[in-house]
Amino acid sequence: MSNPHAPIRRIGFIGLGKMGQPMARRLIAAGFKVHGYDLSEAARAAAIESGAKASASLGAVMAKADVIITMLPNSDAVETVALGGADSIARLAAPGTLLIDMSSAAPHRTRRLGEALGEHGITMVDAPVSGGVLRAADGALTIMLGGSEDAVARARPVLEHLGSRLFETGGLGSGHAMKALNNYVSAAGLTAACEALQIGAQFGLDPALMIDILNVSTGRNNSTENKIKQFVLSSSFDGGFGLGLMAKDLATAAALADELAMRSPFCHEAARLWGEALASLGPAVDHTEIDTFLRRV
Ligand code: NAD
Repeated sequence: MSNPHAPIRRIGFIGLGKMGQPMARRLIAAGFKVHGYDLSEAARAAAIESGAKASASLGAVMAKADVIITMLPNSDAVETVALGGADSIARLAAPGTLLIDMSSAAPHRTRRLGEALGEHGITMVDAPVSGGVLRAADGALTIMLGGSEDAVARARPVLEHLGSRLFETGGLGSGHAMKALNNYVSAAGLTAACEALQIGAQFGLDPALMIDILNVSTGRNNSTENKIKQFVLSSSFDGGFGLGLMAKDLATAAALADELAMRSPFCHEAARLWGEALASLGPAVDHTEIDTFLRRV
């Protein structure tokens, strides 16, 4: 039995990818003992280099963790590590353990997962993030935190090392709902900016000049300010966030609208378009390659 009132010292960190790596490093720097797990050997090796322990078995990670953090691609992956048979959090974590799911996942599935884990004495909060790899490294993420009052209070001392803005959004799953809707708005802004630049260029406008004008006008958004010149016009396409992950977030937002019987035509259109981009370009390319896709349609 893990004592829910004892100070948190040992963290099991599952998912050591682009975001998980810098987040684990922050926790190590803050003095926590971090033991990581990832399917990828390269990700485990990078975590060890950063000062974490890392294992190829979930059991080794669960053995002593006060808290488990998941930073995984989606609900499928979270459910696999949480409930997937003998080698899962449900079976291996001590009752009283807190699971903080920082992945961007589907809110209704998170609620169901929280109930299933509750039967094993494990408490769950959802704490997805906005901010990307650079802000993860600086501990400057925005964190949307859903769960019971007690569980949220228990998670905060860990999360305060990862984020500079923590918002309590309500019950379990509410952080994931907020995150999917944030990324819908973000993707809509990126898509609109790419389309506008392509139309403008066809007319004879200079795309870099267009961005300068948008950024001091009412059309500005996070993508015009922080993505278009940096990753699209430079052709570097290395924003650090996979197109597959953004398409998943849009599908989550559209599914949420469906579950709530909302028509939400623009949200559904965005999800459809990004789904086509995913089918065309694959999940691994950067999300800023939506510009490449839009040039083809
Ligand atoms: P990533 O693909 O770089 O990392 C995911 C890691 O999870 C990989 O190392 C993979 O090997 C591992 N993994 C997958 N399934 C696993 C399993 N069953 N067991 C153990 N390990 C498994 O993704 P990322 O960019 O780090 O994103 C992680 C999450 O954070 C996603 O939900 C994403 O939507 C969200 N997010 C990403 C960013 C960003 O800028 N990259 C920003 C905000 C939120």
